[in-house]
Amino acid sequence: MTQKLIGIDLGGTTIKFGILTLDGQVQEKWAIETNSLEEGKHIVPDIIASIQHRLDLYGLSSQDVAGIGMGSPGAVDRKAKTVTGAFNLNWAQKQEVGAAIEQALGIPFAIDNDANVAALGERWMGAGENQPDVVFMTLGTGVGGGIIADGNLIHGVAGAGGEIGHMIVEPDGFECTCGNKGCLETVASATGVVRVARLLAEEYEGESAIKLAIDNGDLVASKDVFVAAESGDFFAGQVVDKVAFYLGLAAANLGNILNPDAIVIGGGVSAAGEFLRAKVEDQFKRYAFPQVRLTTKIKLAELGNDAGIIGAASLARQFSVKD
Ligand code: ZN
Repeated sequence: MTQKLIGIDLGGTTIKFGILTLDGQVQEKWAIETNSLEEGKHIVPDIIASIQHRLDLYGLSSQDVAGIGMGSPGAVDRKAKTVTGAFNLNWAQKQEVGAAIEQALGIPFAIDNDANVAALGERWMGAGENQPDVVFMTLGTGVGGGIIADGNLIHGVAGAGGEIGHMIVEPDGFECTCGNKGCLETVASATGVVRVARLLAEEYEGESAIKLAIDNGDLVASKDVFVAAESGDFFAGQVVDKVAFYLGLAAANLGNILNPDAIVIGGGVSAAGEFLRAKVEDQFKRYAFPQVRLTTKIKLAELGNDAGIIGAASLARQFSVKD
């Protein structure tokens, strides 16, 4: 029997699992709730029990699995296979994730941070078309990213490489959680889009359901802004244009440095789809220098929620026996 890979996407509300073939086909997937009570001490045992249960269910033994890969929030030490400071898991202290899983299951384990792992997934089986140079940016509650250059994920000296969300796109702009001002995350995350809308609403005089809702203090989501823009709300259109400007500027700067085959946009905000992509591409073309403009593509992510388990599984491919 050919070996399988297991990919784990560890999140604050659910833990997603996949069993994949060595060439990246998802054969089984499932999810369990993340129990982050009691300083998250149940999480690793829950992962181990869930994998053991599924292996039994599918009649697989640990020899049938080449390796397990995992994407995790927080600060990941890839060598020690530990995670520190993942606050949505209640993991403030260092967690010996790899040692526990390898010991319990007898399967080799690899780990990286969740944004990097999603980037690997999109690069391998999604919009990245398995090219050696791919940049992934994910627009969700924050803006995350992963950079693959010459086939290697960029980690930097402290593991903070590829933090696209903290690229400054508006000097002295909105305050960011990182302590700086004007990071991409402050204007292109789900909350960032609404923040831009609120700022522009101060000066907008015309009719707009979105502006009215913002001025009334109603709950407005980034999705509402995109839907309104697409159906012709002029004010919402201005907001989307501004967000697309920031994303296009960031993409052009990334492109000018890395000249990747593609810059792939994913995450919840990217549900705005082609409407957003085309606008980002226009801005990208405005700021990218000629060779980059002609060769680097702006694409939408293709794997959705599966990017995490697929990318995690790709981490485990290093353990497969080559024939
Ligand atoms: Zn920042």
